[in-house]
Amino acid sequence: MTTFADHLDTALTERLGDKVVFIPGWERKRRAISWRRKGKPVALMVHHTAGAATTSRNPNNPGNQKGANAGIINFVQNHYEVPAANFTLDRDATVYVHSAWPVWHAGRGSFKGVKRFARLNIPDDQANDFCVGVEVVSKGLKRDFTQAQKVSLGKLANACKDAAGWQGFYMRLPNHRTWAPRRKVDSRYSLKALRRWAARYK
Ligand SMILES: [Zn+2]
Repeated sequence: MTTFADHLDTALTERLGDKVVFIPGWERKRRAISWRRKGKPVALMVHHTAGAATTSRNPNNPGNQKGANAGIINFVQNHYEVPAANFTLDRDATVYVHSAWPVWHAGRGSFKGVKRFARLNIPDDQANDFCVGVEVVSKGLKRDFTQAQKVSLGKLANACKDAAGWQGFYMRLPNHRTWAPRRKVDSRYSLKALRRWAARYK
């Protein structure tokens, strides 16, 4: 059977080329479970790391020097027994793939009564079993994603759409704070902005 992981491998490579890094073991199940809905995730949840190496003030520099945020990427990969996100998106546009299977990024929360997302019918506190999550490397104090990150986030969303068979992005790009508004502020961007990047950068 062809899994979401197999499709994701193809889709990410096609869309992101040399900007995607598959971390060894990314295709292994980390919690001994598969995605609860038809073996595929139903949405891509957007987070920020609330930490980043100092960003250059030079407008011609898209972000940090490659490797500047290696500590953050390692933290997401190894902080828990399983990764703390499916993907980390560094400031230079590189997408690191931690896992194609359910991990731990969403925590307690609910989409009950939440516009767009209620219809996904995710049980409270169980988004990890239904959604992939991306940690965008950002200090998180203001809207500071680099242009390179916006482009890669759009391409990542499209790769997930391909691999999971989504029709569009209407209910597919929640923020972490959409799920847990009392605990979380990430990301700082509007849902509309996330969808705009997905429509623009394929
Ligand atoms: Zn978060």
